[in-house]
Amino acid sequence: MEKIIDTHCHVQMPQYDEDRGVVIERALGAGIGMVCVGVDLPSSQAAIRLAEKYEGLYASVGLHPNDNLDERYDQSAYEVLARHPRVVAIGEIGLDYYRVTDSILKERQRERFIRQLDMSEKPIIIHCRDAHDDMLPLLAGRTNRGVIHSFTGTAEQARAYCALGWYIGLNGIATFSTEYQEMIRAIPADRLLLETDAPYLASAPHRGKRNEPLYIEGVGNFIADIRGVPPAELFRMTTENAKRLFGI
Ligand SMILES: [Zn+2]
Repeated sequence: MEKIIDTHCHVQMPQYDEDRGVVIERALGAGIGMVCVGVDLPSSQAAIRLAEKYEGLYASVGLHPNDNLDERYDQSAYEVLARHPRVVAIGEIGLDYYRVTDSILKERQRERFIRQLDMSEKPIIIHCRDAHDDMLPLLAGRTNRGVIHSFTGTAEQARAYCALGWYIGLNGIATFSTEYQEMIRAIPADRLLLETDAPYLASAPHRGKRNEPLYIEGVGNFIADIRGVPPAELFRMTTENAKRLFGI
């Protein structure tokens, strides 16, 4: 039984080709479960293969708004993956305007995102960068639920997502700057999820190096400190939240 869930990691990625099994077993051995998140078709299929192999590791499938611009979106291929019993969520999908200013490209992202929202009843893992003003009204009109992962928006935006029934996922980014403290405190305890986004975004003391699910403890300790709660209480609550959302 996992005592912590890393709700967003990418242990299927090439950064772990040399030692993937060791990294995964290191986390599982420490009582850390994982949601392994796809960003395109091959990484979604790879996530499922890992979830078939390791109890305590679950898969999510979807096409990220701009991680693989060469892939032609094939809804039926994702629908097949989405039905797999080890798939607990659809994602990461969403909107990323950080590198996109063209309104036609933004519209294309929105269309593809909505098609993926329509695909399944399973919870959604959303990637949203510089696009909360479009995302919030879009989600307000829908019945989907899930998590806004790697959240770096404002306290007000966090409250707005939670009021719509969504969860907020925090990772090492939250530890990079003091500007997120108000937002970190604003998230209701029953709406907060922890993640690493490994191999990216390692928090101190691992910053700049390859991240891994084991380091989720550092993220949780940091957030517990800012929220003024004992780490054990934060881990208990966020794990309960993750299990409720993903049905695991
Ligand atoms: Zn990610």
